[in-house]
Amino acid sequence: MHFELTEEQILLRNMARDFARKDIAPHDAELEEREEFPKEILRRLGELGLLGMNVPSEFGGQPIDSLSQILVLEELAKASAAVCVIVSVHVSLFCHALARFGTEELKKKYLPSAARGDILGAFSLTEPNAGSDAMAIRTSAVRRKDTFILNGRKAWVTNGRNAGAIILFTAAAHPSGRRRLNAFVVEPGFPGFKMSKVEKKMGLHSSPTAEITLEDCEVPASNLLGAEGQGGTIALNGLDHSRVGIAAQSIGLAQRALEEAVRYAKQREAFGKKIADFQAVQFMLADIATRTEAARLLTYRAARLKDSDRPFTAEAAMAKLFASETAKQAADQALQVHGGYGYSREYAVERIYRDARVLTIYEGTSEIQRLVIARHLLKET
Ligand SMILES: Cc1cc2nc3c(=O)[nH]c(=O)nc-3n(C[C@H](O)[C@H](O)[C@H](O)COP(=O)(O)OP(=O)(O)OC[C@H]3O[C@@H](n4cnc5c(N)ncnc54)[C@H](O)[C@@H]3O)c2cc1C
Repeated sequence: MHFELTEEQILLRNMARDFARKDIAPHDAELEEREEFPKEILRRLGELGLLGMNVPSEFGGQPIDSLSQILVLEELAKASAAVCVIVSVHVSLFCHALARFGTEELKKKYLPSAARGDILGAFSLTEPNAGSDAMAIRTSAVRRKDTFILNGRKAWVTNGRNAGAIILFTAAAHPSGRRRLNAFVVEPGFPGFKMSKVEKKMGLHSSPTAEITLEDCEVPASNLLGAEGQGGTIALNGLDHSRVGIAAQSIGLAQRALEEAVRYAKQREAFGKKIADFQAVQFMLADIATRTEAARLLTYRAARLKDSDRPFTAEAAMAKLFASETAKQAADQALQVHGGYGYSREYAVERIYRDARVLTIYEGTSEIQRLVIARHLLKET
């Protein structure tokens, strides 16, 4: 498998890098400190076509291959982990699932405005009592003529406070007794929809994460995504795609940690030398760089498999597992290189450390990625 980028991919990466450096990075610390949603940045990303990366052109999008999307997400994450996750959920979970499973009517209704960035999309599977065990969700959906009536609580919804539409999963009874899920496109304006809480998080402060309560929430039957009972497939398919995006976010964060550590090591002096002259410090830098490069290759491989329409579930899980654990470790080592200053909010590495911590948790914990990989191994042999 080759990882040579095409001229178009290089141009796109350079465009994203330029925008991220000039228009995102300088604002990230302040947005995080004020817990402010990056509205203006998202508006500009919409203008650049980067919110329509997974929207077919007939619905106003500017579709690009998965590897190109990875390159963009990596650059965004280097500048702001929060902006990256907002875009990743919108593009890889919301737009992707709608474009893949939506009816013509649903696509026409939501995709053009999602591609422009007029509405932001969210994806709500998790509930207060069901995260990794997604089939244990309890939110119900009962059909009443032309509507479904939804009742339940959804937790940890990225973009939930700012979304114009949310792909939301409910439990569905099935005559066979086996649990199934349904997926709906739900708007915050639907009767019975309430955003009940915004989480106080360790990091990603400018990416609000919401809890949603549904009390006899009325959803038009035409907003059912896919067929009844197809929600599980939609969720798993979406997560396969988005895990490659979270791997890209992880690489971006690890790369930024490395750059911060190298810069600091070259300027800080101890015992009459730059700390970069100490082999112990050099080894930390070398380890971060090597693991980040390995994570990048795994992630590009998963994206390439996806682009060539080959199975990539296990490879996406491997990329997500390795890249997220790499970012967590890179942030820790980069902070170590900074000594006491790394523990100060004045240095970006403190924020990177907090932001990186969630990567091994959301969109499937590291333990769940290992289960996915092991399941594939045991099935194959
Ligand atoms: C900032 C943030 C944003 C999020 N955004 C979204 C979003 O937009 N949409 C959404 O639907 N969800 C979102 N989530 C939820 C996230 O996907 C879940 O937190 C994650 O899937 C883990 O679920 P849980 O928190 O319920 O942990 P649990 O499932 O309770 O797991 C707790 C621990 O048990 C381990 N564990 C559980 N089952 C097993 C098993 N079978 N084998 C081994 N170990 C196991 C886990 O790995 C973990 O270590 C978000 C979470 C966060 C923190």
